[in-house]
Amino acid sequence: MTDSQILDTNTPQFLEVIQDLHSQYKSLQEGTVANYIPELAKVNPNLFSICIATIDGQIFEVGDYQQLFTIQSISKVFVYGQALEDHGRDYVLTRVGVEPTGDAFNAIVLDEKSKRPYNPMVNAGAIATTSLIKGNGATEKLNRLLDMYKRYIGRDVFVDIAVFTSERSTGHRNRATAHLMLNFGMIDQNIEEALDLYFQQCSVLVNCKDLAVMAATLANKGVNPMTQEKAVDSKYIKDILSVMYTCGMYNFAGEWAYKVGIPAKSGVCGGIIAVVPGKMGIGVFSPLLDTRANSVRGVKVCEELSQRLGLHLFECGNYS
Ligand code: GLN
Repeated sequence: MTDSQILDTNTPQFLEVIQDLHSQYKSLQEGTVANYIPELAKVNPNLFSICIATIDGQIFEVGDYQQLFTIQSISKVFVYGQALEDHGRDYVLTRVGVEPTGDAFNAIVLDEKSKRPYNPMVNAGAIATTSLIKGNGATEKLNRLLDMYKRYIGRDVFVDIAVFTSERSTGHRNRATAHLMLNFGMIDQNIEEALDLYFQQCSVLVNCKDLAVMAATLANKGVNPMTQEKAVDSKYIKDILSVMYTCGMYNFAGEWAYKVGIPAKSGVCGGIIAVVPGKMGIGVFSPLLDTRANSVRGVKVCEELSQRLGLHLFECGNYS
């Protein structure tokens, strides 16, 4: 399939493909919902939606696409972009690396030699990234992140207080990770403020369409294709997409790169975003997770979408 065919969205092709994938996978019941954050265990496991947003502003959606859920680790992508804007690439690289770990999202592994967490897509690196967000106090920092989400989504967003407090009161592993980073001098003193901001950024409510538009904004050089608002400086897009590509799916990142071949990020509530640069953003939501904390149906849908639409970045037609 050629680029022009992919972008020929006047044809109903995209809608047909996602409708087809939705009916194909909706009976798939493998996986379990995340329950280590007690509030997340309440989610309906049958929810399922797929959305595509193209860079020319078209939306294709199927299933429970208006259902709100918490963005969780997908937030790491956008907060990394904000940290890059706040401090520039060189400084951020001194504080958070860009090496995949091959470990689980919450693994307590740190690069003690370089005094950095490995990358911004695992929890350790994400907490360090969040600690870099500029602002005069906790409220201003949170408001800056909410404004950032608004640019990507095109509407005001809100923190789900129940999920935030649920994670804040049970997030001992993330707290331990932050303390260890403090011990190694990888993060500044105020770790409780950084953890609160991290739990809040993860608890922002989005729907599947929002995910697709956020991904399409990254695909469109940082400009929201629905509102034309600039969400992030285009000079940081390649940094953001590179860490998504190599680290976004945690200990499944290599197989994902091989099979699906586009930058992506998952979250424990069941969301996945995938970015096809210069073409479109994909959002999938289904809360049943595999052992690597990636949505089971989400991974299947993206694998098949990539095959059917020829999206793999290294598919010869995509760069010839
Ligand atoms: N808030 C979650 C945590 O830190 C995010 C993890 C995820 O989505 N993979 O554990």
